[in-house]
This record gives sequence, C-alpha cells and structure tokens, in this order.
Amino acid sequence: MSKLYVMGIESTAHTFGCGIVSSDGEILSNLKSEYVPTSGGIHPREASQHHASKASTTVKQSLNEAGLGLENLAAVAISLGPGLGPCLRTGATVARAIALMIKKPLIPVNHCVAHIEIGRFATKEEDPLVAYVSGGNTIVSAYSDGRYRVFGETLDIALGNCLDAFARSLGLSHPGVPKLEALAENGKNFIPLPYVVKGQDVSYSGLLTMATRKIPESDPRDLSMSLLEVAYGMLAEVVERALAHTEKPSLLLTGGVARSPKLQRILKAVCEEHSARFHVVPPDLAGDNGAMIAWTGYLALKEGISVPVDSSYIRQRWRLDEVEVPWRK
Ligand code: AMP
Ligand code: MG
Repeated sequence: MSKLYVMGIESTAHTFGCGIVSSDGEILSNLKSEYVPTSGGIHPREASQHHASKASTTVKQSLNEAGLGLENLAAVAISLGPGLGPCLRTGATVARAIALMIKKPLIPVNHCVAHIEIGRFATKEEDPLVAYVSGGNTIVSAYSDGRYRVFGETLDIALGNCLDAFARSLGLSHPGVPKLEALAENGKNFIPLPYVVKGQDVSYSGLLTMATRKIPESDPRDLSMSLLEVAYGMLAEVVERALAHTEKPSLLLTGGVARSPKLQRILKAVCEEHSARFHVVPPDLAGDNGAMIAWTGYLALKEGISVPVDSSYIRQRWRLDEVEVPWRK
C-alpha cells in the first residue's frame, strides 16, 4: 500500500495546532500557535478569535514544512472535544472546510485519546497505565475491552489549572507550572493544605482556594513547595492504586504537565515500587498539538472511522471512556 498522509487540527483550548503524519509513523510537521491571556485564565471567545486569525497560516506552514499540498492528504482529523465550545467550533470549521474542499474523510478524534496515543507512539509502550495531566484534564486511565477506562480523575478542576491559577495569584507569568517549581526549589517549611482523594478521584479546587488564601501570611517558596507536594502526592496515590489493580507493566505520563521534572521523579519512584517501567511523552509532544490528532486520526482511518461533515458536531464534554478504540483490539 502506498504511503498515506493525514492532517490533524487541534483547537480545544489555548492552542491552535496543525500537524501532519504519514502511515509510516513519521511526524512531518507539527506547528502551533498559542493564545496567551493578557490577564486571568483562558477567555473562550478571545481564544477562538486567536485561533481563527492563526488558522490559515498555521495550516499553510504545516503543509510547507511537510512538503505536501492539500491534494496529498488522505484525510483530515479534527479534535472534536472535550474542550471550550468557541475554540472547538473554530477548529472544526477549518477541518470541515478542508475535508469538503479535498473530498476526503473527516476523522473525529477525542482529545484525551490523542494525548494517550501520541504517548504510546513516542514511547513504544504497547499497554501502559496512563497518567494524563494538563491544563484541562487529570485522568488516570488504562485500556480494557475496547476502550480507555478511567481509573481515577479530578472531580473538579485539572492539576494544571490548579497550579496555573495559583501561580497567577503569586504574580507569575504563563505557563505557571515551571515557574512555581523553580520557586518551590527553595521552599523549606511545609505548610499544611487539604489533601483530597475520594476513592480513586482527586479534588483540586479546595486545595487551590486554601493555598490562595494563605498567600498573604506565607513565604511563597514554602507555599509553592507545599502545594506541589500535596497536588502531586494526591495524583501519585491514585496512580499507585491503579498500577496495583490493573497490573499494567508500565506507566505513561502524558499531557502538558508531564514536562514537570518533579512530577516525573515522584511517579518514577511509584513505578519502581511496583516494578513497572516509567515513560514520559517527549516535551514537544506533551502539550496540545496537531500531530497527536493526526496520528490518532490515522489509527481511526485504518479502522474505517469517519464522520459526515454535516453531523460533525463538537462535544464539549466528550468523555475518554465513551470512545471505542478498535485499533487496540
Ligand atoms: P496542555 O493543556 O496539555 O497544553 O498543558 C498546559 C499545562 O502544562 C499548563 O498547566 C502549564 O502550566 C503546563 N506546563 C507548561 N510547560 C510546563 C513545563 N515545562 N513543566 C511542567 N508543566 C508545564
Ligand atoms: Mg490537552
């Protein structure tokens, strides 16, 4: 069979991305443009305006870098959710237009599945337990019987969201997590904060509220260190039980916060306790990107999955465990 090329469009939140992969497993291009709020968190309408203004050049440059034209593509994959409505709609409009223009299939991709698949692709781990941690999601997942099942998740805000919001309250710029970690390096005294694990789920919103309240009375280095200890510790507890229960041979850390050296150290230690291999997605594939959508789109294309353009609705709350992943069978 001749080589196929698939384009992937990502626009669930702050990033507009366009990546192109081949059926040989090459990432030919992976370009992105990130919306950075002037103050506060992501403003969905402003982010979608950013995406609309950057879409055409990002797509063109991605094709140029891959050395391809639209006519070479076998399909266009689009991240239809979960995410912010206005952002999702902008990316979906771009992908639908391209699919119609070139008369090729539109492939619906779940953003969370894509973070897992790009991690499996890059680390060559067949069947890992996955810790997916980003600005919008915190999910511990493993494949079983046709789907990625959830073995723990956040009940409210995501780990990255909690840490970014706290970092902003300290006056640190985006992205917050690395700056918070640098500050925490010089923390000395542990400040007690609410550690909230309920069954296999975590809750970060009370932790954020309490840490923010303590800012006026605390040394920011101590407070950052304590917040990271508690936030990462909660995740590690859930990951450890999931490893013991699923008996998966390895752990894959993926998503934007996977770039954290501190989180990597903690989860590596958990893996050593359970004789599991530890893998982290490479930094350039950790945050939201188009290549992960393209690669997952290619896996789906091989299974004959596509969606008619006129019913390619976005799904703001599309859960990971609702998605059939027939390529894993
Ligand atoms: P995503 O939503 O997957 O693009 O990930 C965004 C999250 O990654 C935000 O919470 C950022 O603060 C976090 N992040 C960005 N750079 C780093 C880094 N070098 N180390 C740890 N976390 C990071
Ligand atoms: Mg993401």
